[in-house]
Amino acid sequence: MPYGKNVNIDNNIFHTYYAKVKKGSRKILIVDDDAVSRSLLSHLLEGRYEILTAENGQEALDILKRESAEICMVLLDLLMPVMDGYEFLRIVREDLQLSMIPVIVTTAKDQEEEEIRCLELGAVDFLPKPYRMELVRCRVDRMIHLRETAAILNMVERDPLTGLYTRDFFYLKVAQILQDHKDCPYDMIVADMERFKIVNERLGVEAGDRVLHYMGERFKKLMGPGEICTRLHDDLFAMFVHHSDAQRRSELLWQWDEVVPGVTIHNPVIKYGIYENVNSNMPPFGMCDRAVFAMNRIKRHYGVNVAIYDHSLSKDILKEHQILDSMEDALKEHQFLVYYQPKYDIHNDCIAGAEALVRWIHPEFGFMSPADFIPLFEQNGFISQLDFYVWEEVCRDLKAWKEEGRTLVPVSVNVSRIDFSDPHLVEKIVELTDRYGIDRELLHLEVTESVYMDELWQIIQMLKDLREKGFKIEMDDFGSGHSSLNVLSELPVDVLKLDMKFLQEGSSSKKSILGFVISLSKWLNLKTVAEGVETKQQLVALKRFGCDYVQGYYYAKPMNRQEFEIYMEEHARTEEDKRDYLTAEFQEPAVNGKRKETILIAEDSEMNREILKSMLEPYYHIVEATNGKEAYAYLKKHADEISVILLDMMMPVMDGFQFLKKRSKHKEMDEIPVIITSELEEDSDLMALKLGADRFIGKPYQQSLLLLSIQNMIKWKKVRKSDKKK
Ligand code: C2E
Ligand code: CA
Ligand code: CA
Repeated sequence: MPYGKNVNIDNNIFHTYYAKVKKGSRKILIVDDDAVSRSLLSHLLEGRYEILTAENGQEALDILKRESAEICMVLLDLLMPVMDGYEFLRIVREDLQLSMIPVIVTTAKDQEEEEIRCLELGAVDFLPKPYRMELVRCRVDRMIHLRETAAILNMVERDPLTGLYTRDFFYLKVAQILQDHKDCPYDMIVADMERFKIVNERLGVEAGDRVLHYMGERFKKLMGPGEICTRLHDDLFAMFVHHSDAQRRSELLWQWDEVVPGVTIHNPVIKYGIYENVNSNMPPFGMCDRAVFAMNRIKRHYGVNVAIYDHSLSKDILKEHQILDSMEDALKEHQFLVYYQPKYDIHNDCIAGAEALVRWIHPEFGFMSPADFIPLFEQNGFISQLDFYVWEEVCRDLKAWKEEGRTLVPVSVNVSRIDFSDPHLVEKIVELTDRYGIDRELLHLEVTESVYMDELWQIIQMLKDLREKGFKIEMDDFGSGHSSLNVLSELPVDVLKLDMKFLQEGSSSKKSILGFVISLSKWLNLKTVAEGVETKQQLVALKRFGCDYVQGYYYAKPMNRQEFEIYMEEHARTEEDKRDYLTAEFQEPAVNGKRKETILIAEDSEMNREILKSMLEPYYHIVEATNGKEAYAYLKKHADEISVILLDMMMPVMDGFQFLKKRSKHKEMDEIPVIITSELEEDSDLMALKLGADRFIGKPYQQSLLLLSIQNMIKWKKVRKSDKKK
């Protein structure tokens, strides 16, 4: 039992069996066509055992089938009418459950040949006729004692933690069920709790035990007649059930909806693998293997919790073996190539970086995508070697580009979760960049969101360490899991890489989440990269939301080193180009000598204020008010200092409408342009404009739109002022 101590559980079979033994209600079945022999034996054993009798094999079989659980021994005569002892033995031997009941054969003296035949048929001992009282008693008692000890051992083999069958007993039972119900379709389902090890590590073995016990109970309750389940090992459970319709299946494949008393687990998920309509000629462990195989394919796929075994997968197994056999040579022979996919700065269309993505040019299978081999390497740990190889290739390329005087952009490499099991990871990365003389800022590390979700202290510490040493950390596939947004600010991250899913499904709810996430990351001072950008529409939406960088086929596919070098020559822009691009639209306000223009932000949400500030602060001086009243009070004293007001309409104490009304009564205030920065709701824009606002900018804010609006407002205000003077 790999996990924990024994939990006190009611192990039904064990207890009923034990109670039976204690009460002395063990039954012995005497089978003999001779009435005298029957009564003799009965008489001899009465008192200590309960006696049942049968006159022939057939009758005995009937009794046995009815009461097999109670009968602890059979005394069998060989020569009988209807069904003789040999036939009886043969039938019993074929039946898993019946064959566990010991049979002692009663024979005439010196019948060696007969005895051998019976032993072959499964009898355990002999009683020579005529019966000798002492001998009969001794042999029966001894045999029953032996059996009970063995039986008790067997019973203990029931998993004490969950009370479910042990793995071996489960296999035995599966074989038996299939034998008895040859034409019934059955499914083998395995279930595994994701990240269970963390429960054990973080909450302790006792909590882990409680979770397993709870899971066992739930699986047990789901079993119908003729269905069984087991804990195979650790947190891996198996159910052998009738092939079922969708309704029943959805019952079987439960997820954590309730909480285990006293155990808090974050987002617990159970992954299921199903081998449907099992081939009954296959040994039960093979069935489990197939279900596990299916399940392993969806490990760490967020949102996919059930996988069904597909026969075509067996072919994949073969390929997998070949892949695993050839991986080490492949590394030595440089069959792995690094491809680069550019990342663009969304604001000025310049290449801002690249992601290194590995490819395998396999001598037999040809070009292979990471999806074909990375999951395998993650399972067997080879990924760490491969990742290090890729990082080194990237450093080598960066060094060469530097020496050749090419434009350098930061390159992101992928860091697998497995890599963090190496306690020297940080030193190794530092040593690598030092050895190639690479500026640490040029190596970005992409770490998948799920690594953070595990919240393993050691990993977070390593990432902090790397970040302090100057490497930029990007959280990959953000949004594919369920990281809690509220811990984001505490994690060592510089960049959020938004999962492609955000873009793929064009539903408006997904879009609004996208907008929210981008706003949030601005507030947290994180840059955002959107990956998988394929269309112009996606790009426009991302621009509107204020995303910083984009990566995707719309711009460029991953390409090999030579292609990437040519691409960079053609597309990379100089710093000068970049400046031209920005100034073409927005002219940085001149500050030489004069003070900066001041913008008043009236907005109750701190997050929105921060976002606006982050967009404006490089160019303007900012004053903040958290409601209309504060803004009004400030303006009464300082109206002449404010160039533009950014006004939210929904605020406590005094909202935007009230503010606009009050403002209209003061000449100096009334001259300051107002930009409404509220959510567009029904007539609110119309109302605001009627009350004298000048412009409306909806959320999420787009920096260039905001800057240009302010710029034009200020220009216009000045024009108006000078007009008035004339
Ligand atoms: P990822 O880190 O999420 O990488 C982005 C994947 O999206 C890449 O797939 C890239 O080719 C693909 N992609 C880029 N733009 C688009 C687009 O516009 N549309 C679509 N549909 N896809 C796009 P790729 O190269 O097949 O890599 C798959 C995954 O394999 C990567 O996902 C990453 O998790 C893993 N991987 C790749 N190279 C390495 C490596 O060197 N080490 C490790 N540990 N993992 C790697
Ligand atoms: Ca990546
Ligand atoms: Ca990704």
